This record gives sequence, C-alpha cells and structure tokens, in this order.
Amino acid sequence: MRYVAALMALGLYLLPPPAWAVWREKTEAIMGTRVYVEVWADDAAKGDAAIEAVMADMRRIDELMSHYKPDSQLSQINAHAYERPVKVDPELFNLLKLSIHYSEITEGAFDITYASVGHLYNFPEHIHPTEAQIKAALPAVNYKNLLFDPVNYTVRFEHPGMRIDVGGIGKGYAVDHGIDILKARGIQHAVVTAGGDTRIIGDHMGRPWVVGIRNPDDKNKVVTRIPLIDTAMSTSGDYERYFDENGVRYHHIIDPRTGHSASKVRSATILGPTATETDGMSKTAFVLGPEKALEIINRMPQYDAVFVCPDGRVLYSNGLAPPDKASGGQKSTAEAK
Ligand code: ADP
Ligand code: MG
Repeated sequence: MRYVAALMALGLYLLPPPAWAVWREKTEAIMGTRVYVEVWADDAAKGDAAIEAVMADMRRIDELMSHYKPDSQLSQINAHAYERPVKVDPELFNLLKLSIHYSEITEGAFDITYASVGHLYNFPEHIHPTEAQIKAALPAVNYKNLLFDPVNYTVRFEHPGMRIDVGGIGKGYAVDHGIDILKARGIQHAVVTAGGDTRIIGDHMGRPWVVGIRNPDDKNKVVTRIPLIDTAMSTSGDYERYFDENGVRYHHIIDPRTGHSASKVRSATILGPTATETDGMSKTAFVLGPEKALEIINRMPQYDAVFVCPDGRVLYSNGLAPPDKASGGQKSTAEAK
C-alpha cells in the first residue's frame, strides 16, 4: 500500500498543475460611495470578470436612479411628474413600488418623498433649511401622493413641490443585483458592499466573515464585530454625511414627519436575508428609534439589529444578545464592554 501511495503521489506530481481557485477583490467609487467586491473564483480571470460585471451593473443602476444625475430617469420624474405622467423602466418602477410598500408597513418612517424636504439640505456645504422652509416643504412629503400606472409604467406626483430619492434603498438593491450576477456565474463565496450595505454569500475559508460596526465618533474603532454567513447587513449612521452647528448634528437620515435629521440613535444596523430589505429597514429603525424598532424586529426571526445610542450604549435584538439576556423586549439589550 505504501508503494501505491507513493506512486499516486508521483502521479499527481506529474499531472499538469490544476487551475488554482483564488480570492479576487476590487474597490471602486460608484453611486457616490465605496463599492467593494470580493469573490472566491476558479481562477483569477474568472474572478476578475465576475467583479467587473458587478461594477458595470452598479454603474448602470446609478445612471438610472441617481438623483444627482440630471439625465437619470429618477431626475426626469423629479423634473416633470407633477406636470405629466413620466414613463420609466420596469426595474425602476418596481423599486419605487417596493419603496411605497415599505412606507406602508413602516407608517411612513421610510419614505422616498422625504426628498421634498431633504433636498433643502446640503451637507458638504453645511446648509440646512430654516423652520419656515421645512414647514412650507413638509406637505409634499407623503408617499401616498406618488401615483403608479402599472399598464404604461408611468409615475406621477399628485402634489406640487414633490421630489423622490432612492438613496435609502438603491444601494441595497444594487448589492442584491450584484450577488445575483455572481451566483449566475457560479460564484459561491463572495461579499458585495456599497456604502453601508453589504451582502455575503457562503463563508470565508470555512469560517464566517467578520464584519465590524464602527464607533460613531471614530472610524478606526469598532463597537462590536459580528460573524456572518449568507446574510445581508446595512448600517445607517449619523456620521456618514453631516455637519455640526451650534451643538446640533445635521445628517442625511431625515424623519419624514418633522423634516429634521432623526436623532434617537447614532447608528442602526439591520441583518436580514437581502440587502434591499436591510437597507430600507436601517432608515426605518433609525427614524423609529431602538425601543420601537427592537419590538418589531424581535417579532421577526429572520432579522436582527444593533443600535448605538447617543449615550454610547449598544443595544442588540434577541437573536444577537447573549442567551441569558435574550428574554424579550428591553431586557434583550446587552451593554457593550
Ligand atoms: P448609505 O447611502 O451609505 O447606504 P443609508 O443606507 O443610511 O446610507 O441611506 C441614507 C440615505 O437614505 C440618505 O442619503 C437619503 O438618500 C435616504 N433617506 C434619508 N432619510 C430617509 C427616509 N426617512 N426614508 C427613505 N430614505 C431616506
Ligand atoms: Mg444604505
């Protein structure tokens, strides 16, 4: 038997070298954010081609849905949908319909028409609306005034001054689309990230991927690390696009009921099956605040959440809390060390 083993070893040695599976990765700036793709592929060329296909798709989605690009279909809606119905691609039509569905189930905490007031903020230039400007713009914030014609794929605004922006769901959607592209190419282990939205398929060398949730005041520190396999995760934070003025932080997650930046948490992280869902839910949880959001999430076993509170406490949903603390409601929260 020893000889057989030796011959087999020799035989293997004489075979042409196999194509080695490899990890490949790339980072690019798309959709106004950092897009990162990492894949485990049969060989480097296949991995790079798969990554490039995801990047190209992200650029395509950005061209279609960016509210910063005047020629995008979304900008065409903002420019004309109060005058006349605007025809859009079924893909954008369906994402807008899904956004409205999220508004319905969150009682308007998630609302893409928030942009009717949201566009009055300019974070890089430290501009925020006055109370009078907010009051004047708020009546245009109402998802019920976005009307759909499913036969002609048109959308219309029923209120003057309305605007929409899918910044709160588009990156999650693009991440899921990227994962679909990788799966169709036979990739079984990968991570796709766009800004605060990440989705993971498979594991990383037989172990979970470990994703950190950053300290809101220091991007080099993490408050907790979470091991993940086959999961999506989205974080919304008040430290992404913001400025401080007279002790008030103005940032990009807006409470559609008030027109002000939401202030109940510093960051809200949601874990769930798809990034489209977790992206939409991270804004919702941010606006609702940890008590209400945890109550809802603890009733849905497929989702989990982590909140960093203004006083520094870290709150976890039941699925993530240490077993002795996972007894429901507020008791489920665990304090960060
Ligand atoms: P990122 O863009 O890095 O993924 P978030 O997922 O936290 O960050 O999304 C923030 C974006 O969500 C904002 O820039 C804005 O476009 C959008 N947004 C802000 N408030 C709301 C809201 N109440 N409902 C829906 N979308 C919102
Ligand atoms: Mg996001």
